[in-house]
Amino acid sequence: MIRIVLLLALVGTSAAFAPQASPQFAVRGDVALEMGNGSKRKAALKTLGKVAGAVGTFALATTGAPEAALAAKKAVEVVETVDNTKKLIVGGAAVVAAGAAGMKFLGGEKKQDFLEANPYWDQSTVPVNVYKNKEPFTGKVVSTKRIVGPKATGETCHIIIDHNGKFPYWEGQSWGVIPPGVREKDGKPHSVRLYSIASSRYGDDMTGKTGSLCVRRATYWCPELKADDPAKKGICSNFLCDTKPGDEIQMTGPAGKVMLLPEEDPTTDYIMVATGTGIAPYRGFVRRLFFEKTPAAEAYKGQAWLFLGVANSDALLYDDEFQDVKSRYPDNFRLDYALSREQNNSKGGKMYIQDKMEEYADEVFDKLDKGAHIYFCGLKGMMPGIQDMLQGVAKKKGLDYEEWLKGLKAKKQWHVEVY
Ligand code: FAD
Repeated sequence: MIRIVLLLALVGTSAAFAPQASPQFAVRGDVALEMGNGSKRKAALKTLGKVAGAVGTFALATTGAPEAALAAKKAVEVVETVDNTKKLIVGGAAVVAAGAAGMKFLGGEKKQDFLEANPYWDQSTVPVNVYKNKEPFTGKVVSTKRIVGPKATGETCHIIIDHNGKFPYWEGQSWGVIPPGVREKDGKPHSVRLYSIASSRYGDDMTGKTGSLCVRRATYWCPELKADDPAKKGICSNFLCDTKPGDEIQMTGPAGKVMLLPEEDPTTDYIMVATGTGIAPYRGFVRRLFFEKTPAAEAYKGQAWLFLGVANSDALLYDDEFQDVKSRYPDNFRLDYALSREQNNSKGGKMYIQDKMEEYADEVFDKLDKGAHIYFCGLKGMMPGIQDMLQGVAKKKGLDYEEWLKGLKAKKQWHVEVY
């Protein structure tokens, strides 16, 4: 009884830090900032920290659940050293994590395997193009949230869509969206746009009935007007970023098999390279490998390494979740950011994704040599810089780049989805 009360108190209060639908680790910085003045926030976090500490101690004492106790300890440590916004946010995340870990151990979290193939890595039943343009599926928006800070370049939204369990997909696939209305030029319906799915197959709410998208609002900067020209804004991304709960979305797919995880060997290393919304499939991967109680997560013993390139720290995507995984699985998850407008590369220029990767070129090549799979997702423009860098490294190592690349492709270790 005491356990239940403590957990309810913890989860209830920590909801203030977790406005997204994910019951586990979703925390948004800008929302945390809305919580009254600084001293009130500190007081609230101190209370949360105390509750987290109590839960952790109780968890360890009663069930020997070390993960809950550790997460709670972390929450207390962070809360005790709160002195700026970032720490407040991390404090919120730690408290939510403590709640989740406590729930997992104390509540006896259920296995999640109702959407698995048999065996779970068998890709022969991956659904592809079940819904087509002529007979699309109608999904319903659960929530649409801006997930970048005020100084981000542009707006990116996390959109959760309810498919009522009728539109299953695998991590790494995309959904098509047909924006409403017709084209101005010929009065025909708009064409379908693809969006990588940003959740695992179970959805952020783990029901298997939702999926999430990570969408950047496409705007058009008019050099003559020296302002955004709304007449030329992107049709589908603006439609999606403007949706409200309950809105209907015409959808096709699921599309693509290029970005699937080859799960048969659970010791496989993954190198995930993203710019901007290219992060979407990797959020699904990370949730599948580390957040869930699936056979895939239980079996995973490899290392997943994420490189994300964005303009500045306000433009980081899902950082709270990735930091959480990094702290809980330091040996199995690595995280490296390239912030082009905040960091410099070794030559003093802007830090782009290829510069960050180059810092670890020996390790990247070594991992690929040993069978790691590498993924690239994001804007098309990312690939030339990355390939030039890889080519330069290969040359220094005395490798024939074309042959090296051919080998990776032949062994299906090279996955590219850029747009
Ligand atoms: P459109 O209406 O198609 O316009 C395209 C661009 O042209 C816009 O920037 C617009 O401002 C500009 N434009 C419009 N009119 C004019 C004009 N008259 N003159 C000059 N410029 C003009 N996107 C994401 O955000 N997240 C994802 O996860 C994602 N995943 C993808 C996965 C795949 C496999 C692919 C192929 C694409 C993915 N995309 C993703 C991109 C997405 O499909 C769309 O291309 C993107 O959202 C822009 O579509 P839109 O309808 O908003 O813009």
